Amino acid sequence: MKVLVLNCGSSSLKYQLINMENEEVLAIGLAERIGIEDGVVKHTAAGKEKVTIKENMASHKDAIRIVLEALVDANHGAIQSMDEIAAVGHRVVHGGEKFSGSVVITDEVKKALEACSELAPLHNPPNLMGIYACEEILPGIPMVGVFDTAFHQTMPKSSYLYALPYELYEQYKIRRYGFHGTSHKYVANKAAEMLGKPLSDLKIVTCHLGNGASVAAVENGKSVDTSMGFTPLEGLVMGTRCGDMDPAITTFLLEKENLDASGLNNLMNKKSGVLGISGVSSDFRDIETAAAEGNERAQLALDVYYKRVKKYIGAYAAEMGGLDAVVFTAGLGENSKECREEVCRGLEFLGIKIDTEKNNVRGKETVVTTDDSTTKVLLIPTNEELMIARDTLELVK
Ligand code: ADP
Repeated sequence: MKVLVLNCGSSSLKYQLINMENEEVLAIGLAERIGIEDGVVKHTAAGKEKVTIKENMASHKDAIRIVLEALVDANHGAIQSMDEIAAVGHRVVHGGEKFSGSVVITDEVKKALEACSELAPLHNPPNLMGIYACEEILPGIPMVGVFDTAFHQTMPKSSYLYALPYELYEQYKIRRYGFHGTSHKYVANKAAEMLGKPLSDLKIVTCHLGNGASVAAVENGKSVDTSMGFTPLEGLVMGTRCGDMDPAITTFLLEKENLDASGLNNLMNKKSGVLGISGVSSDFRDIETAAAEGNERAQLALDVYYKRVKKYIGAYAAEMGGLDAVVFTAGLGENSKECREEVCRGLEFLGIKIDTEKNNVRGKETVVTTDDSTTKVLLIPTNEELMIARDTLELVK
């Protein structure tokens, strides 16, 4: 059985075709510049050369059509015919309070997702466009929605409620939702496997450190707290997002900088984070290089970033009443030994002892602490696509 996994962004579409018999990736690719000029699809089938298809795509429907053509192409394809695709798994960012797990997409689910769009205006509409486009191009093929928010629906109310008038929660559903749930769930499961212990016995802090970044407290396999909130802006410092700050700064800035709501949103989401502090880049590779060359603001950006992650690890250890493991994943977490080392520096009191040799690794499942470290630190490459494919298979079987 082959599952097509789709992750539709506003102008892009990432996809993977996975053979669920052995979980092998048969094809992987990315369509970019959907809805604008110079559209391009980069496609690679297993064991074949990468191909670049230049074609303008007016909508996600065009993009999906090109992707499907690439998948069945005689030269660079991965399957003989579209009939081999048994199901499609869609990444959906926001499932609101309604979805605590993945679901088969029905008319009712689509309606509920439309309603959630208000909570994630940048993310849910393109996710939905992908769903509608697939329905047209692949009629009758079952589709499943896998939500970034679902894993965190186990949080207790004391973790997800903000100290605003309670009526605002009732009226607008203003609360912490949390994101990257598929990734946090995957790495927590994998950590238990690597440690040879049941997940139900473990207190784990999972750190998803990519362009967007979040930390989750996973106790006995359940998310009990997470750093992203009502939107993906809260919590850690990110590439271009500010994360936690005094909320009064917003009203101060509205006046002082003569901004409106969208200007303020843009400042906090696009101009802040390590880009804002360093003035160098939002990419950690550039910042690490600049810092190594003596750029003080680049070093400062890294210091602020690492400290925020450390602070959350301490907070979540306190919240769970203990800590068995810390997991690092996503772009920075998987690739930067400095990041893992600096975040864990000074955490010996929590039983963490980094082994600098073992930590000198990239993108490979590794326990990076010493054998006598009572709390383990693990590097685990995330695999959200595989999780989506597994849930899809499970639900359509
Ligand atoms: P996304 O949130 O877009 O999925 P990723 O998980 O791919 O992000 O992470 C991308 C980020 O990871 C890049 O912006 C970069 O900052 C960081 N990154 C990737 N490779 C490295 C590396 N070798 N060293 C340091 N940082 C890296």
